[in-house]
Amino acid sequence: MGTKGKQIIKIDPQKIIDELNKALSDEWLAYYQYWAGSKVVKGMLKDVVIKELVEHANDELRHANMLADRIIQLNGTIVLSPKDWYKLTNCGYDAPEDPEVVPILKQNIKGEQCAIETYVKLLELVRDKDIITERIIEEILIDEVEHENDLENILEDMA
Ligand code: FE
Ligand code: FE
Ligand code: MG
Repeated sequence: MGTKGKQIIKIDPQKIIDELNKALSDEWLAYYQYWAGSKVVKGMLKDVVIKELVEHANDELRHANMLADRIIQLNGTIVLSPKDWYKLTNCGYDAPEDPEVVPILKQNIKGEQCAIETYVKLLELVRDKDIITERIIEEILIDEVEHENDLENILEDMA
């Protein structure tokens, strides 16, 4: 982190790094949950659902990239071992054990709702104290709100 870039942070950077690593663990688990769901899903509107799940998986991976780049910029260490994802995660992992469209949609909606809550809390932590991280988290939060909305719309179309 550059000298001035460091000076504009008004909070212990390690606190931010810790929270970003927790969110990074969430994003990897969310990525895998969507990816696995897209492979196993079956039933009504399957093709529409697969397309949406794959899009969301790619978005979660992009979020993981954004978080990792900021952690490194803050001179932090990114979570290096997948087994630590389970220790650090806020939202956990919901295995797509029932491959029907409705349960898959519902478990991913639940995940998005947890992601929204997590990022709102993170925003409160960095608000006006680390405006760069604030901007990154806002950008991710916009996507998570869209994700929840997209999945709820598909569920509605099926009813
Ligand atoms: Fe995400
Ligand atoms: Fe999402
Ligand atoms: Mg979408």
